Amino acid sequence: MTWLCFGIVLGLIVALVRLRQKWIVPWRGIEQILAHMARGERPRTFLLEGAAGPRNVALALEQFFDRQTQLDRRITESASGASTVFNALQDGLLVVDTGHRLTLVNRSFETLFGARTDDLGRPLLEVIRDPAVDRLIGETLASGAPQRGELAVTAAHQQPLCLQLSAVVVKNEAGLTTGAVMLFHDITQLKQTDEIRRDFVANVSHELRTPLSILRGYIETLLDDPSTSLDELVRILEVMNRHSNRLGLLVDDLLTLAQLESSNPNLQLSDVRLTELFAAIVRDWGKKFTEKRLSLEVGSAPDCSLIRADETRLQEIIYNLLDNALKYTAPGGKIRLQAERRGKEVALSVSDTGVGIPEADLPRIFERFYRADKARSREFGGTGLGLSIVKHIAQMHGGQVEAESVLRRGTTIRVLLPIQGPPDPVVTESSH
Ligand code: ATP
Ligand code: MG
Repeated sequence: MTWLCFGIVLGLIVALVRLRQKWIVPWRGIEQILAHMARGERPRTFLLEGAAGPRNVALALEQFFDRQTQLDRRITESASGASTVFNALQDGLLVVDTGHRLTLVNRSFETLFGARTDDLGRPLLEVIRDPAVDRLIGETLASGAPQRGELAVTAAHQQPLCLQLSAVVVKNEAGLTTGAVMLFHDITQLKQTDEIRRDFVANVSHELRTPLSILRGYIETLLDDPSTSLDELVRILEVMNRHSNRLGLLVDDLLTLAQLESSNPNLQLSDVRLTELFAAIVRDWGKKFTEKRLSLEVGSAPDCSLIRADETRLQEIIYNLLDNALKYTAPGGKIRLQAERRGKEVALSVSDTGVGIPEADLPRIFERFYRADKARSREFGGTGLGLSIVKHIAQMHGGQVEAESVLRRGTTIRVLLPIQGPPDPVVTESSH
């Protein structure tokens, strides 16, 4: 009997152990698998011993885990792809939620506003202190319509920038507004060009107004008083002639500038012999210089006698420089036209012993319409375009200009041109 009881108890124990092995241990295994998965880790194994039920659950969990891993990888890939694209954008990009909190910014935005990645989640006003941006976002969210605006910013260690802002709302699949996207586009250059253009139009109008009003005044005088004496008539006609000449010169200079600035300035390159060009120039200008009792000296170093350039344009450079030297040098002065070799370049210069240019004006004399001595320049009929034409031609040839001057002592304007002609293609910079 005792043996029978012992046998039954032993049988029960064995059955319990088997039961535990088949049902309890595998479910513990499932618990461990789930604990790993909850931490985002891959369990050591999905293979369990025991009953078919928990074993199948483990295999299903393995499939689930693999699918989840794939999905996660795809999400990460597309997120990093999108952020690569966003960061490649030149424009600043900002995404905010309906509470005006930052949800996404790109690198350009961070540079523009000194923002950092941990600014995500912060209210927009704390990152961009200018309330105009926050207001624009508010208007976009409220109206649902795209909004535009402008903003002036000075990023660290940079020039002030002018940004064009454009904001649109973001909607989810259900059509509910979830936030707004704003782009910050740099329009500083555009603004500057526009300002230069407006200045230019204002300057041209101003230059045209003086001679035109003088001409109109004299025409009215002649119409009002037909009995004007012959002497007076001659004087009036002479003044009218001078001013109409001035108008003609202004229009010529403007046309030259327009052509030089056009996308196809059309350089006619040839091998120019400087000594011959200088000799022709001396013949053309000799009389003007003698009339004003100015001496003209010419010098050309033998190692730069040949240069590849547009001869007519080269002549235009020298004419403009000689014209200035003639205008701004008192009788008895000396003018020197010279060509020297400087490495791969030729330095063409015109020096005079004239009135000179104040130091403060020197950096600006190549700008359009800039005159250092307004009264004197106007007296000679100058419009301040000559040196900007010189600079343009130099740049078209791949060269540059320099100016040195000492007040009341004299001036040297130098044009540096590559001997071999312009490198291809030449980009000219606008000299405003
Ligand atoms: P334009 O050449 O259109 O007839 P301009 O001579 O006044 O007019 P630029 O040749 O562009 O204009 O010269 C700009 C300014 O630089 C002049 O108004 C003058 O004040 C100054 N300048 C140029 N060359 C000399 C020079 N050799 N000596 C003194 N001042 C000069
Ligand atoms: Mg001039």
